[in-house]
Amino acid sequence: MQLRCVECGQTHPPTLRYACAMCGGILEVAGSSGLAPPAGPALANSMWRHAARLSVTEAAAIVSLGEGATPLLRAPRVGRAIPGFRGEVWLKDETRNPSGSFKDRLVSAAISKAIELGAKGVVCASSGNAGASVAAYAARAGMGAIIVVPAHTPAGKVTQIAAYGAILLLVEGHYSRSYDLAAALAERHGFANLTTTFINPYAVDALKLVGLELMEQLDGTAPTHVLVPTGSGPLVKGVVQGFAEAGAWPRAVAVQAEGCAPIVRAFEAGEAKVTAWGMPTTIASGISDPLIGYERDGSYTLRLVRETGGLAVAVSDDDLREAMRLLARGEGVYAEPTGASPIAALRRLVAEGRIAADARVVCMVTGHGFKDGKAYQEMPARTYPVPAPEDVAAVARLCERAMRERD
Ligand SMILES: *Cc1c(COP(=O)(O)O)cnc(C)c1O
Ligand SMILES: [Zn+2]
Repeated sequence: MQLRCVECGQTHPPTLRYACAMCGGILEVAGSSGLAPPAGPALANSMWRHAARLSVTEAAAIVSLGEGATPLLRAPRVGRAIPGFRGEVWLKDETRNPSGSFKDRLVSAAISKAIELGAKGVVCASSGNAGASVAAYAARAGMGAIIVVPAHTPAGKVTQIAAYGAILLLVEGHYSRSYDLAAALAERHGFANLTTTFINPYAVDALKLVGLELMEQLDGTAPTHVLVPTGSGPLVKGVVQGFAEAGAWPRAVAVQAEGCAPIVRAFEAGEAKVTAWGMPTTIASGISDPLIGYERDGSYTLRLVRETGGLAVAVSDDDLREAMRLLARGEGVYAEPTGASPIAALRRLVAEGRIAADARVVCMVTGHGFKDGKAYQEMPARTYPVPAPEDVAAVARLCERAMRERD
């Protein structure tokens, strides 16, 4: 097992290293540990049942809260709500991870590897979810954590990070400023950097299991498309790599928000290089990453999308609200705005004829609604105050009226 540069191919020993020493490029894990699946009921029902494919070589270093191995749900009502669509929609429900987002997969792998390599603490820059995840796993490991987030991060995510007891630094401005500070602090304190862009190869490596899980769950037949909410793009890489290792090449669709869409902009312009975005303006905090200073992450993701014959598409905040509503009311799945973005994208791409009406698509539902319920609070709801609960007949009439009015 080694670290390999995705740009120049140079290999490096598997230490805590965040960029290629030759060219500064992104590093990936080449090879795997071959570690026997560790015993214990929690681990057996987690991504660690595939421990042999990951990078941790000592079972004792594993820090797990039961991440990964998430359900794949068929979503017929979402499919029917998309005009003209008669294919299959599946939801990979990553909200079910221990801290409520797929970041737990990256963080469980990376903190375990950091412990194996002797790290005494961890640092993470985050738009919220990675920070919550690192704080949770650091608590689980009994390790110190410093989390750096933009000051405007949704309250639910900030509360969650603080609850796990991490040191939480709030930085004015966009996410890239937090990113730079976290890298500097990791260096200063000698802590491992668990930021979940492409910086930590051991973190990104674990996401290939998403593709492998999907192949298992779909009985070995690949979907036509996988729609992935995309910040810098590790999840796109994981999905593409996981399917490729199982011999399948579904089209990867990178989904961004119109208010922060550097990868989509380059895709539409036919460019190979992604340029940074300014200040993001969207309710989708999980993908509000302007890539300032690490534009190469976006270019790499774009390259992977194109290699699959895939697409990149941006959705509006109104599209996101509608998708959130459809997921919650139609399928019982409660997602944060970013987590619903693939459904918004699917609707748009089918309408534009860019995804066929009989496609078989997987939507990555990446983050839980508990983390950012603001958009739901602003939606029309069927909520009624009951000042006189003794008057059951009156309350029953109210319910009957409400049932008739159901949209
Ligand atoms: C981080 C995050 C993303 C973006 O993932 P990348 O791998 O950074 O592109 C998408 N959705 C949610 C909920 C996230 O937290
Ligand atoms: Zn290199």
